[in-house]
Amino acid sequence: MTVAYLGLGANLGDARQTLKDAVVCLAQQHTVTVLAKSSLYRTAPIDAGGDDYLNLVVKLDTTLPVRHLLALCHKIEHHFGRERPFRNAPRTLDLDILLFGEHAIDEPDLIVPHPRMTERAFVLVPLVEIEPELIIPQRGRADAFLAAVADQRIEKMKSPCQCIAPNAADAIRTEDARQDTPKGGCP
Ligand code: ADP
Ligand code: MG
Repeated sequence: MTVAYLGLGANLGDARQTLKDAVVCLAQQHTVTVLAKSSLYRTAPIDAGGDDYLNLVVKLDTTLPVRHLLALCHKIEHHFGRERPFRNAPRTLDLDILLFGEHAIDEPDLIVPHPRMTERAFVLVPLVEIEPELIIPQRGRADAFLAAVADQRIEKMKSPCQCIAPNAADAIRTEDARQDTPKGGCP
């Protein structure tokens, strides 16, 4: 089993619903356990035009090798209508592997830790929310990079229920995700 962190983003279509459904689809894989899910954040597009993004980060335990996890990310992106008309185009769903255990991978089509993760508030803020002490292999504490991205606009969205302690709420949401079924199903 490997603990991995994925960054999810969307700024086309019903982004909120797509992100919720994508987490459900991850949780329904036999090879994946969703351990934690950050709040949802509204963020300014970086290096791109288009509408604001919605972003979140999930922490997984998985039996998949990293290449199979990348293939699963691509399959789920495709299922939710991802198209790539040009670089940094608006997208219905983006699923990036941020960390995969302690692995360091540098191949043409897969770089882990994700090469731009320490430059992006939309990754760092939700990541530190779910793992305040996180160490990024070869780069150090994730929270040490927050000051450098403080000028990037990011706003935490209100949670639908403020009544449960954060950890309990995470566990319940993860359990819900297992039983939920997105309208369009899961790949
Ligand atoms: P981006 O997420 O950079 O905006 P895409 O989602 O279109 O762009 O991804 C382009 C390619 O980046 C993917 O086909 C994938 O092979 C590659 N890639 C390299 N490293 C990673 C990673 N850590 N997570 C996800 N994709 C990655
Ligand atoms: Mg991507």
